[in-house]
Amino acid sequence: MNLEIDRDGLLSEIETLAAFSDAEAPAVTRIVFTATDLKARAWLKGRCEQSGLKVRYDAIGNAFARWDGSDRAAPVVGTGSHIDAIPNAGKYDGVVGVLGGLEAIRALQRCGFRPRNSIELLVFTSEEPTRFGIGCLGSRLLSGALLPAAARKLTDKDGATVDEVRRGAGFEGELEEVKLPSGYHKAFVELHIEQGPRLEREHLPLGVVTKIAAPASLRVSIEGAGGHAGAVLMPDRRDALCAAAELILAIENAARSTGAIDTVATVGICEVFPGAVNSIPSQVRLSVDIRDTDLRRRDDVIQALDTACRAISAKRQVSVRSELLNADAPGDCAPIVIEALSQSCRKHRLTFLSMVSRAYHDSLFIGRIAPVAMLFIPCRDGYSHRPDEYASPDDIVRGTLVLAETLAILSA
Ligand SMILES: [Zn+2]
Repeated sequence: MNLEIDRDGLLSEIETLAAFSDAEAPAVTRIVFTATDLKARAWLKGRCEQSGLKVRYDAIGNAFARWDGSDRAAPVVGTGSHIDAIPNAGKYDGVVGVLGGLEAIRALQRCGFRPRNSIELLVFTSEEPTRFGIGCLGSRLLSGALLPAAARKLTDKDGATVDEVRRGAGFEGELEEVKLPSGYHKAFVELHIEQGPRLEREHLPLGVVTKIAAPASLRVSIEGAGGHAGAVLMPDRRDALCAAAELILAIENAARSTGAIDTVATVGICEVFPGAVNSIPSQVRLSVDIRDTDLRRRDDVIQALDTACRAISAKRQVSVRSELLNADAPGDCAPIVIEALSQSCRKHRLTFLSMVSRAYHDSLFIGRIAPVAMLFIPCRDGYSHRPDEYASPDDIVRGTLVLAETLAILSA
C-alpha cells in the first residue's frame, strides 16, 4: 500500500475553511450554528461528498461522513474532531483532525485500499463552550455523558435554548436519538494539534496520547463586609479579597503538594465588589479549574479546597461558598488504538512521544463508549486559541499519513 498525502490539496482546504470566519484573518471566529458555521459545514459536506462519502447529521448537528466498508454490519472505525472556533482563534485547532481525517480517507481510497469496517469521519458540534457554556456538547450527547433533558436547559447569551438554535440551523429530530448505540465504534482516533509546547521542545514530530486529563470547575463566592477604606480599622475588618487571597494560595498549595506533575489548579477569574479604590472589598467571586489525569488525586484537591474554605471562613469571619459546576472524569486511551498508532509510526520510521493530553477533547467523551486514542502534532510555541496558532505543513502531512495508516490497520 503506497499511501500518499495530497499536501497542497490539504493545505489549501485548511486555508479555505479558515476563510469562513467572523474575524479578520489571520484570526478565525466560528461559533456553532452561526451563519458562518453553517456555511463552513455546507462547504465541508460538499468536500466529503466529492470523495464519495455519505453524509448524515444527527439532531445536535454532529456530522458523520461514511466510507462504506465491505462488512457493513461491522462496527465503525471513526476519526474526526471539530471545526468550531472560539472568538479570535487560529485555523488549526480541531480543523487538522477534520480535514486531516478527510484527506486520510482519500489517501486510502487513492491507493486502492478497501476497508472491511466502514470508516467514518465525525465532525463534532460545539467542542468549544463559547455559545452554550459547556464544551464538547456534541460528543457529550453522543456518549450519554450529557442527558437530553440537561442539554435542553442550556441557553446562549441571548436566552435561546439549544433546541431553538439547533432547529433554527436546520437540525431536526429528537436529542434522545443522538446517543450512539453501544458497540457502534470499533475504535475512534482523533488527530489534533498538541496545544502545548512539549513536542516542539523535545523535537519530536508526533505524540501518541495515552491519557486525557479532565477539568473540574468550581465557583467560589466569598462574602465579607465592605466599608470605607479610611474609617474601618484593621481589627474590625472582614475583607473578602484578603480571604480570597488566602484561598487562592491554598488552592495552589493543594495542587503542588500532590507530588504529581499532572495535577494543576488555576484561579482564572477573580471578581471584586464593589471594586473601588477606597472601598473595602465586600464580595469576591473566584473561578477555579482543577485538572489531573487521576480522578482521585483531582478530587483530593477539591477536598482540600473545601477544607480551606471552611478554615478561612472561620478565621476571617466571612462566608465562603463553593459550588462544583462541572467535574468530568479523566480518560485512559485504549491499548488497541494506541498500538495501531505506534505501529503506524514505526512503519513510517517516525519517532513519537507517549503523552498526556492536558486539554480535553471530544475523544474524552467518545472514550466512554468506544476505544479511543489521539495523535498529536506539534504547534509553534504551544500556542493555541489565538490567531498566531501554527502547525507546519510537514507536521500536518506527517500526522495525516500516520492517521491514514492507523485507520487502515483498524479497519482491515
Ligand atoms: Zn480542539
